[in-house]
Amino acid sequence: MSNQTLALTPELYQYLRNQSLREPELLRALREETARHPRHSMQIAPEEGQFLAFLVRLMGARRCLEIGVFTGYSSLAVALALPADGRLTALDISEDYTAVARRYWRAAGVEERIDLRLGKARDHLAELVRTQAGSYDWVFIDADKVNYRHYYEASLTLLRPGGLVAIDNVLWGGAVADPRDETEDTQAIRELNATLLGDPRVDLTLVPIGDGVTLVRKRLPTDP
Ligand code: SAM
Ligand code: CA
Repeated sequence: MSNQTLALTPELYQYLRNQSLREPELLRALREETARHPRHSMQIAPEEGQFLAFLVRLMGARRCLEIGVFTGYSSLAVALALPADGRLTALDISEDYTAVARRYWRAAGVEERIDLRLGKARDHLAELVRTQAGSYDWVFIDADKVNYRHYYEASLTLLRPGGLVAIDNVLWGGAVADPRDETEDTQAIRELNATLLGDPRVDLTLVPIGDGVTLVRKRLPTDP
């Protein structure tokens, strides 16, 4: 054993899932339905859903925001972890994808907790920044990668000090570390990763779960 993060073999990954995943029945059903969707690889991994839900509970988060809903796996995981008076604002551009999400939110009895806003996330964020700055506990960013930098800045404005933003796909299938990959999405993620590392407004940790998720905590003025 050396002091570096373990690379997971398929067997070890299966072990991790077998020994730690407590996936609620409706999340499993949604995952199975989404697996038949042509864009199914957009969904987060179930252990990542459990990780996000764990963090929401740990923080006692009540005001949450998600940017990028798709068929609803992450939003359902988060909504199920909220207290009864908790709220999730959910942004996505696709009526079709989110129709699946809505069906599962309803079945799980959490539809009332979720405020879905369809359209370009940047437009909705502009409105939220105008009216709800500093009021969110939690943000999950998982939409189009070219806008990640913008989503990050808006999220920091929306968070209360001590709030958390979780940013998905920061390892981008390994492409971020391949200098030959100069595609727009890869460059956008690389640039954001560099920005986060140098951003004195936040604490951060990059967790190699799923496709990599960076947790960013908005610092308090009193932080040492
Ligand atoms: N978090 C989801 C999950 O757990 O399954 C996966 C989200 S998927 C990777 C990205 C989503 O971002 C898609 O549903 C897509 O419709 C949405 N999206 C893409 N561009 C967008 C934009 N400009 N504004 C809002 N949503 C957008
Ligand atoms: Ca993702």
